[in-house]
Amino acid sequence: MQKGNISVQTENIFPIIKKFLYSDQEIFLRELVSNATDATSKLATLARKGEAKGDYSDKTIDIVVDKEAGTLTIRDRGIGMTEEEVKKYLNQVALSSAQEFVDKYQDDASIIGHFGLGFYSAFMVADKVEVVTKSYREDAAAVRWICEGDPSYEIGEAERDMQGTDVILHISEDSKQYLEEEEIEALLMKYCRFLPYPIRFGTKTETTYADVPEVAEGEEAPEPEKIETEVDNIINNTDPLWKKSPADLTDEDYKAFYRELYPMGEPPMFWIHLNIDYPFHLTGILYFPKVSGRMELQRNKIQLYSNQVYVTDNVSDIVPEFLTLLHGVIDSPDIPLNVSRSYLQADTNVKKITGYITKKVAEKLNSLFKEDRKAYEEKWADLGVFVKYGMVSDDKFYDRAKKFTLLENTEGKFFTLEEYRERIKEQQTDKYDRLVAIYTADADRQHTLVEAARDRGLDVLKFEHAIDAPTIQSLEQKEDKMTFVRVDSATPDQLVQKDEEKENLLSDEERETISSVFSGVVDSTGSVEVKPLDVQDAPVQIVRNEFMRRMKEMQMMQGMNADMFPDSYQVVVNGNNPLIKERLLDVEDEATRTDNAKYLYQLAKLSQQMLSGAELKAFIDRSLKNM
Ligand code: ADP
Repeated sequence: MQKGNISVQTENIFPIIKKFLYSDQEIFLRELVSNATDATSKLATLARKGEAKGDYSDKTIDIVVDKEAGTLTIRDRGIGMTEEEVKKYLNQVALSSAQEFVDKYQDDASIIGHFGLGFYSAFMVADKVEVVTKSYREDAAAVRWICEGDPSYEIGEAERDMQGTDVILHISEDSKQYLEEEEIEALLMKYCRFLPYPIRFGTKTETTYADVPEVAEGEEAPEPEKIETEVDNIINNTDPLWKKSPADLTDEDYKAFYRELYPMGEPPMFWIHLNIDYPFHLTGILYFPKVSGRMELQRNKIQLYSNQVYVTDNVSDIVPEFLTLLHGVIDSPDIPLNVSRSYLQADTNVKKITGYITKKVAEKLNSLFKEDRKAYEEKWADLGVFVKYGMVSDDKFYDRAKKFTLLENTEGKFFTLEEYRERIKEQQTDKYDRLVAIYTADADRQHTLVEAARDRGLDVLKFEHAIDAPTIQSLEQKEDKMTFVRVDSATPDQLVQKDEEKENLLSDEERETISSVFSGVVDSTGSVEVKPLDVQDAPVQIVRNEFMRRMKEMQMMQGMNADMFPDSYQVVVNGNNPLIKERLLDVEDEATRTDNAKYLYQLAKLSQQMLSGAELKAFIDRSLKNM
């Protein structure tokens, strides 16, 4: 064996590699299997061009654990290396790139999970690395290279028949888990599941049953014979769906692939097959999962691959935030992986990729909407979450989504923004010439109010999801002269403010009296106002100013204590309702009068489900007494 020193400035690199990001140690396997894959594909290319002669049809990559010897071997049948090449590639190329990587990213822990360290990542888990390799070239001799994690190495002759490379890791004492088969199999499943060449990890037992001979009617069929065979344990699917042409695929194929990715998941609603060659390469499949029932949205289900090698499931820098709700796979060799976060976000390719994906998603939604509106409406509960999320967070997407975002009203009818403007134009334009869209955040709880509004010929929209509050903000900002008010923000006749004066049946003095009676009754968080409403409108109503309520909701969303912003509301007394005159003004006895006011106030609270347990009991007792 010949001895040598790798390079002078590398003395520090091994200890650094060793302790580098303990948590990401496992990526050594991906790095080495990727190298094996590259070597295999290089040889395939040469063979195709006629530059390498021989039978190279077996492209299997073997992963072998030898517990006794304490080694883990990655074996390929690829291009191999001559002695010169070993010196060049392992002692120089691989080392200098590892060196560069370590110099650059010593302090940035987030990066190693992506690519970069390459061959030398082996030293994260091994204290000795042995490479036995033989070049595909005719008459090339096999070479053995050994390095014990310090700048010195040995190189010499070796025995090997087949072209290709064995990388033999002598696993270090504190990385013994990489000699466990389950551990290695799990890592292979994670990183190598869709590599383009078969990855073989030993064998497995497959059980089949022999055909049962036909028997005459009435006779009992014999038990089928169980046949157990040892077969290759191939870890990966070498031809994943996203690499195929969409024209060759059926819906069932897409669904089956979804199950392969997420065995526990509910079937997806639909999917988009991404495939672009210019100005960057990207393939992939994005699935729209069902989300409507869940308030907690699941992110980070998209897996990022680079040439079929798994990189990460955190794609938040590559796809727009709202699309991290999607599931599936993105595969692009053009996403720079060994760079920092801020660099990634500024990268022009990444920007283009982000733009492309957003556009594709918008196109898909638009075509679903156009092709089958009914089906689209049926899926809106799920789809709407994405669309609204996108509209809120991405201006470009907003402009695209304007055409296919839907508003649902309390009758379960759906409208585009255009259609809805048209629908409410007549009734719901206020004195400032604004369109006023009325909504409920909970059609069930606000049933009384919704009905009251509808009785007046007003339309009420359903905005019941957490994403709806920011959506409303966006719509108000972007849509011309359109404003949204919640159904409890004013009395029904005031939801859309018009210029008409109501006849006032009470004198100023009478109003004063009523106001003071109620002020004594209403909780400290409420304020009283006596107004001339329609005769048939409820005697007492509770409203919450739209603006104030939104402020409060926003502050609560930002994590501020709810107690700091008590529920504040206005109590509107309908001076024109005959009950007010009859039960308050015409009653001499002060105690009875106060009691009546309290009862009417509780009635208003009841209709908005605001009564506490004790108040409810008092209310019921009082109702029973009057029967
Ligand atoms: P990279 O793969 O990014 O070039 P590595 O450090 O992983 O960096 O490897 C350095 C070089 O060593 C490779 O470019 C390749 O030429 C050579 N090499 C590594 N592994 C193998 C292998 N299994 N078969 C043939 N050559 C290899």
